[in-house]
Amino acid sequence: MATLLWFKRDLRVDDHPALARAAELSAVVPLYIVEPAYWTLPDTSGRQFAFLRESLTDLQSQLRSLGSDLIIRVGDAVDVLETLHKTIHITQIVSHEETGNTWTFERDKQVAAWARAQGIPWTELPQSGVVRRLDGRDGWAGRRNRFLRHPQVAPPAALPPVDLPSAPIPDLTAPDRCPSRQIGGRPQALSLLGGFLTERGRTYRKDMSSPLGGAVACSRLSPHLALGTISGRETSQACAARQRELRGGARDGWTGSLKSFQSRLAWRDHFMQKLEDEPQLEHRCLHRAYEGMRPLEPDAARLTAWKNGETGLPFLDACMRSLRATGWLNFRMRAMVVSVASYHLWLDWRSTGRVLARMFTDYEPGIHWSQMQMQAGTTGINTPRIYNPVKQGTDQDPTGAFTRRWVPELAEVPDAHLQTPWTWDGAGRLLGATYPRPVIEIAEAARMARQKIFAMRAGVDRAETQRVIDKHASRKDAAGHFVNDRAPRISTRKAQDSRQLKLDL
Ligand SMILES: Cc1cc2nc3c(=O)[nH]c(=O)nc-3n(C[C@H](O)[C@H](O)[C@H](O)COP(=O)(O)OP(=O)(O)OC[C@H]3O[C@@H](n4cnc5c(N)ncnc54)[C@H](O)[C@@H]3O)c2cc1C
Repeated sequence: MATLLWFKRDLRVDDHPALARAAELSAVVPLYIVEPAYWTLPDTSGRQFAFLRESLTDLQSQLRSLGSDLIIRVGDAVDVLETLHKTIHITQIVSHEETGNTWTFERDKQVAAWARAQGIPWTELPQSGVVRRLDGRDGWAGRRNRFLRHPQVAPPAALPPVDLPSAPIPDLTAPDRCPSRQIGGRPQALSLLGGFLTERGRTYRKDMSSPLGGAVACSRLSPHLALGTISGRETSQACAARQRELRGGARDGWTGSLKSFQSRLAWRDHFMQKLEDEPQLEHRCLHRAYEGMRPLEPDAARLTAWKNGETGLPFLDACMRSLRATGWLNFRMRAMVVSVASYHLWLDWRSTGRVLARMFTDYEPGIHWSQMQMQAGTTGINTPRIYNPVKQGTDQDPTGAFTRRWVPELAEVPDAHLQTPWTWDGAGRLLGATYPRPVIEIAEAARMARQKIFAMRAGVDRAETQRVIDKHASRKDAAGHFVNDRAPRISTRKAQDSRQLKLDL
């Protein structure tokens, strides 16, 4: 007779409501199921699996220090549960709610059906500000903020030993070269959080969009938050404690930076809530009118050039190559690579989204698919942003150090031509030989994209726009804080603004 604690994207024992609940019930068996079918999906990858393995190894030692262990099983979740049930007679399953991709959503439905058939109750608890079965966004921000302010849940003082052998953590995926990938495990998460709150974060607001500066000034907690080696609540409360400590102190950047960081943590829950509320947004345009705007079958040559960082657009290529080697990009660069793919290259967000998901060590379906649609202009409620990769390169990488590091083919090109090598006198011996000619003419491609979008938006169904606003739009005050007000009507200023285009000429 045992209570099964099913670990999912919550690989820690601290601030773990499900573990605390399970420990109150009966002998706890902590379980992680490695599901081979998940690791063959087009949005999962070797770098994510490597990070998971490290985090599982660390969770094993956290549980051992409490007197228990992590029981690893490999296989289909229902098969694993069925076999375990025969050995230990499961009386309850406890886990956290998961906002995953369609595959995990369907798997959870199968597990729920199996548990029901066996008469085994399955309790799923929230571990973030995401609210299950939410009935519209009015009032959501207040609920989220209350959850974040609630005291953290202490780990059990001790757990009973588990008399079950664990399978070794397998090595499932094909090699995925990511030499500068972040390392999994709670010690790494705590060290990143500590370093960010006491040193690196001071220039966060100023440096977050710089490709080189951002890699240091951003928290870099994303893969840890994605797999739950640290909770969003722990992160937000540690930041709040630091904000209190600094209150009234010198105006040296900390105040603004930590405020911005808290907003990003709120965005995390806000974007994940969208997928929780509408799981189909992984596959379908949020605003139905945008379905079919771009061909579903992407131009293979363009997609490959974009993916491999061989478009002949230096800053874009540098970002994609850096991402391949590190598994990370800052927010602005993610938005830019999607904007160029979606507008200039006119590629559908589903194909580019799968490529990026695999390259992100921190792949978090709720943030990822919501952001993909927002940057690709298919939500119908956000201002489409057409970033110019040359201007972004000049603004965000003014010394050219980042571009030169990742695109060494441009070594000979003088600074003044770095982002536009086709304007350099020596271009003839470079382009088409050691570095590609640009796959598009930037101004012309942006003009075409603008025309198509204007034509599209002219005939948009306003009722569908209002549906998207009611279900998904953030409710913010003038300062950009999440508040408890009501959904704007489509005739308001906000809705009018959302029909304009933002150009980055
Ligand atoms: C197209 C696109 C896809 C993205 N896909 C992912 C993804 O799969 N996983 C992921 O974690 N983030 C994703 N982001 C959001 C953001 O770029 C990353 O969270 C951030 O760059 C991670 O670095 P960090 O942890 O140092 O962030 P910080 O700037 O230190 O922020 C702290 C945390 O806040 C959250 N956060 C930050 N920015 C955002 C944002 N714009 N929206 C929602 N949450 C945010 C993340 O959890 C992040 O770890 C995506 C953004 C875009 C434009």
